[in-house]
Formats: sequence, C-alpha cells, structure tokens
Amino acid sequence: MRLLKNESKNAHPIEACALLFGRLIDEEAVVTKVVVTPNVLRSSVRFEADPQTVFNVFEQAEQEGLDFVGIFHSHSAPAHPSVFDFQYMRLWGEAVWLILSSADGGVAAFQIVKGDLQKVVLKVE
Ligand SMILES: [Zn+2]
Repeated sequence: MRLLKNESKNAHPIEACALLFGRLIDEEAVVTKVVVTPNVLRSSVRFEADPQTVFNVFEQAEQEGLDFVGIFHSHSAPAHPSVFDFQYMRLWGEAVWLILSSADGGVAAFQIVKGDLQKVVLKVE
C-alpha cells in the first residue's frame, strides 16, 4: 500500500493508476503484485492506462501465474467511484476497484455485484 500512496502523492493532482494482481480465493482477494501504469489522460478527474502497457502487464502476470484482481487509482475527491468510474466498472466485470483519496487519505475498494456497487475488503501485501 505504501507504493500506491507514494505514487498517488507524486502524481497529484493527476490521478495515479495501477493494475493489481494476486490471488482470488472465494470471496477474498489478496494483492501480491502492483504495477503502476501512467495515466495517459494526465487528468485530475479521469484516468486511462496505455493499452500496450496494459497488454504487456497482463501477459507478464499470466506467466507468473497470478490472477487479475483489480484496478487502483487515486482521487483528489473522497475515495468513492465517480460517475465515469461507475461506467467503466460495469465494463470491467468482477474487477475490484481500489481508490485512494489524496484529499483525506481514505482508502476503499468497490466491486459491481449483479449491477450494484458494493464495498469489498481487499488486502494489499
Ligand atoms: Zn475515479
């Protein structure tokens, strides 16, 4: 989690983003690998990772036998999905969205379950 906090601080006010890999066992998600992906939008309210980078990162993780767990990004606002986030969350299916607020240091993880936004517990090792 320290890496993500530092990255968010360095990127501020631009949103930082990262891909999270690890193990998905039943209801529990444990993140063991964090890969920071530069925000190509360089926006303080939206983020997007370079597709080629994302592809490479996924391939590498697969070779390491890791599951894709979710997506991290930072907010200048509180740690709650924005309207944009909510739209993308629907596209990413079961992925867990970890959000860190640069404003108040709050951290929260969310997932769309059967169309509804739910708060989930995510361990970052
Ligand atoms: Zn967001």
